[in-house]
Amino acid sequence: MGGSEPFFQKGLRRGPGQSPASGKETMETMNAAVLHAVGDLRYEKVPMPGRGPGEVLMKVMACGVCGSDIPRVFEKGTYHFPTIPGHEFAGLIIEADECDKDLVGKKAAVFPLLPCRKCAACEVGEYVNCSDYDYYGSRRDGGFAEYIAVDKRNLVMVPDSLTYACASLCEPGAVARAAVRRMDVQLGDVAIVYGAGPIGLIAAQWIRESGAGCVRIVDISEEKIEFAKKFGFLAYDEKRDGKADCVLEGTGVSPALNNAILSLKSHGRLVLMGNPAKDMTIAQSTYSQILRREINMRGTWNSSYNQTINDWTETVRAMVSGKIKYEELITHRYPVSKTFEALEMMRGRREFYTKVTIINE
Ligand SMILES: [Zn+2]
Ligand SMILES: [Zn+2]
Repeated sequence: MGGSEPFFQKGLRRGPGQSPASGKETMETMNAAVLHAVGDLRYEKVPMPGRGPGEVLMKVMACGVCGSDIPRVFEKGTYHFPTIPGHEFAGLIIEADECDKDLVGKKAAVFPLLPCRKCAACEVGEYVNCSDYDYYGSRRDGGFAEYIAVDKRNLVMVPDSLTYACASLCEPGAVARAAVRRMDVQLGDVAIVYGAGPIGLIAAQWIRESGAGCVRIVDISEEKIEFAKKFGFLAYDEKRDGKADCVLEGTGVSPALNNAILSLKSHGRLVLMGNPAKDMTIAQSTYSQILRREINMRGTWNSSYNQTINDWTETVRAMVSGKIKYEELITHRYPVSKTFEALEMMRGRREFYTKVTIINE
């Protein structure tokens, strides 16, 4: 479809004469990294986003590059083209409806999923299981841009004491917290996290905060193991640490899954979080151990964002208290004009990185 579709799809972008700020017949533009086709991400001028009722206009100040953005941009594409990717963003609210004027000038992170608010899952606030959702940065325009229009119901307010870079880590932070909730960490537990990427390192910190006696890391990258030490985590050593009570599998690759299962005690708890790139296989001998050790396996997906359980507001709270280190995960900062370079560096693993963040500050 690349490039043939008009920009003004779904009325998402502000066209001529639609400027609520001036009311003048102007074509306001902004800079953004726009995906026109698989592998074709262009930094270019696009119309300013049009702000509908109930939406705020946000100046994007920081947007994390998610591991999932690499296949999204280079292999799978977004749901339609052109689309501005980026779903881990935070920014400054610069325009709102008259009744929401107090939001202007405030900092916020954004829950990127737009639920239909009609289906059975939405009715109970299980938005990540919504049957008809929209998503900033994959199904509609996201945060690799100077500005974005955001539904005010998706705003997660952030105090001024936090940097935008830190606030942009709310999304992986909330995903990590949701996964750790599924682990039911008990006081004194031996816990292992497979995969020392940003989510793994946030999760390991939540596990430690939850009362685990020993939290270890597994990763095939020596550099990642070294980086994890900054957060106080050593590599798992079965001889020293013994078998684990609970394990978080964050890699989505079969050898790690097998090792994760085999590292558990009887009645151990395994939470599956890593997105698989291909079929996951479990060896017959490993499978037998799931049975013999009566292992409990659970999946986890995204994060909770409702009034009862809100991984987002809890993440902000942990950021403010300083209990969990987030910003220290950022190894690379790029301006939005260099978004493609950032993604290429990650794809080619040209440098060691943990979190790569696009910064407009
Ligand atoms: Zn993400
Ligand atoms: Zn729904």
